[in-house]
Amino acid sequence: MLFDTANISCDVVINDCLTKKNVQLSVLRLDKIHPVVSGNKLFKLHYFLEDALTFSKPGILTFGGAWSNHLIATAFACKSCGLKSIGLVRGEQPTILSATLQACKNYGMQLHFLSRELYTRKDENEFLSQFPKEWKNYIVVPEGGYHPKGAAGASLIVQWIPENTTHVCTALGTTTTLAGLLYGVKKQQQVIGVPVLKGMTDIDNRLTHLTGEKNEVVLLNNYHFGGYAKKTPALLQFMNLFYQQNKIPTDFVYTAKMMYGILEQVEAGLFPSGSKIICLHTGGLQGNASLPEGTLIF
Ligand SMILES: *Cc1c(COP(=O)(O)O)cnc(C)c1O
Repeated sequence: MLFDTANISCDVVINDCLTKKNVQLSVLRLDKIHPVVSGNKLFKLHYFLEDALTFSKPGILTFGGAWSNHLIATAFACKSCGLKSIGLVRGEQPTILSATLQACKNYGMQLHFLSRELYTRKDENEFLSQFPKEWKNYIVVPEGGYHPKGAAGASLIVQWIPENTTHVCTALGTTTTLAGLLYGVKKQQQVIGVPVLKGMTDIDNRLTHLTGEKNEVVLLNNYHFGGYAKKTPALLQFMNLFYQQNKIPTDFVYTAKMMYGILEQVEAGLFPSGSKIICLHTGGLQGNASLPEGTLIF
């Protein structure tokens, strides 16, 4: 790998419900790769970085919002590999940069702001063709690494998943990480996605785009808590309780919604006795910095 994976661990979660149902649940701590950069984002970037290095490109150009885990991962990864990075950010330039964008800048990312209207055209060839000449050699990565190459990179995660695992779960945004798991897991292992956006109806199409085939996945559609980056007091309370019990921090945009959903489904009996579940801790903890101080106990 192009980054240090020595800290990744698989932590067993203990609670009464899991014991009662005879289900084992562990969290694959990809968040421990780096305190700020989301684990799954680095995997998704793997083959783009490799291409940039192999073909001597100046760097990577990509897209994201003001709190984008993908932008910060790109900035960090490029800096680590000696590449340049350009971030095209959704919305007008704010007077004060978000903590995320400031960190991107500190990693050397060149930031440019696009109006929301222009941002919606970011995947059109006509838009890309109007780039300044000095950007044309950059490798362009779609927002969130949503590309078959991103999924191929995410599939490298499975080397940390124990053989006897029966279910592998991840929070789902662009669907790229889920697609990577599908590439990589064993036939008998069930992949489960927890969408963090409300009313996603195109996941099947996304998986086809990413993997080139039809796939069997289980989706838990009722854990978006109102929509992307929305939260409820119950979710925040769960995050504090989960931390108290397991000393595992989660983020309110992705991993807390997944953990909440999976644990509720254990209680509801979705997992047969004897199941061994792995939940990916994909990171994203830096996003908690957008919460009012004192919301979380970690
Ligand atoms: C981006 C992200 C996800 C979602 O991954 P996709 O590949 O976009 O589905 C999950 N968790 C965290 C922490 C993320 O930053």
